[in-house]
Amino acid sequence: MRSSSGGRVYLVGAGPGDPELLTLRAVRLLQQADVLVYDNLVSPGVLDFAPANAERIYAGKRRNEHTMRQEQINVLLVKLAREGKRVVRLKGGDPFIFGRGGEEMQELAAKGIDFEVVPGVTAACGVASYSGIPLTHRDHAQVALFVTGHLKDGSKVELDWPALVRPSQTVVIYMGLNALPEICRQLIAHGAPASRPIAVVQHGTMASQQVLTGTLADMPHKVAAAKLSSPSLLIVGDVVTLQETLDWFRPTGAAGQDTAALPLDILTSLQP
Ligand code: SAH
Repeated sequence: MRSSSGGRVYLVGAGPGDPELLTLRAVRLLQQADVLVYDNLVSPGVLDFAPANAERIYAGKRRNEHTMRQEQINVLLVKLAREGKRVVRLKGGDPFIFGRGGEEMQELAAKGIDFEVVPGVTAACGVASYSGIPLTHRDHAQVALFVTGHLKDGSKVELDWPALVRPSQTVVIYMGLNALPEICRQLIAHGAPASRPIAVVQHGTMASQQVLTGTLADMPHKVAAAKLSSPSLLIVGDVVTLQETLDWFRPTGAAGQDTAALPLDILTSLQP
């Protein structure tokens, strides 16, 4: 389906933070963008791949501070595409995981706008890798669940608790930092051992990454003491015990610097 104006919206996953985790497709599209419409969770380093003269529009989406309402974003995307622009709609992580990307594309489809979706490294995968917590492991977990811990009406988290407390699985909770005490309480109330391991990872894959590990019983207290902030991801399950051995990421270490020059050289020579 091609819109008559020739404009197109590319819904692009910007990954969890470290710009090195962008896909080649994402970088190519950024390099050719006329306009970027980006959310709060997209790191500044990602925007740097776009030409200096590309228009940059911040669509917000910080908790309690929706700079643009979803309907306004939808209207904007349709308008820009109808003007014939190559629009890169950037979303943190993967656009189809807790990112409302599906809703935005439904709107474009309804309006007959041409679009494409580019996957990104979702926070669960990025955070798991950079904190040394394999989400599955033959000795610990055969299932990994991704759920949202978003608070409804300021205090309730509506989740299928009996499904979340089962053994031999890993539960990754997005948007769960504010509800952490309630989540730990509910998991224990539904039969999870209070000693079940949990990690809270703040700013995963970024220089400011911080990993806290503990148990369902002591994590609310630990998080309050450490004053962690958003974005943070919760990982619940026995795989968290591997973190002590597999922790490898040193934000200021040589690993990131070694690779930085290489892909940029390659990427600038990429042809569409
Ligand atoms: N579409 C995104 C998720 C959007 S929901 C994705 O696929 O990753 C936003 C939530 O994702 C945050 O509240 C946080 O729980 C998680 N998150 C995103 N980036 C993160 C990061 N770098 N470190 C830790 N958690 C992150």
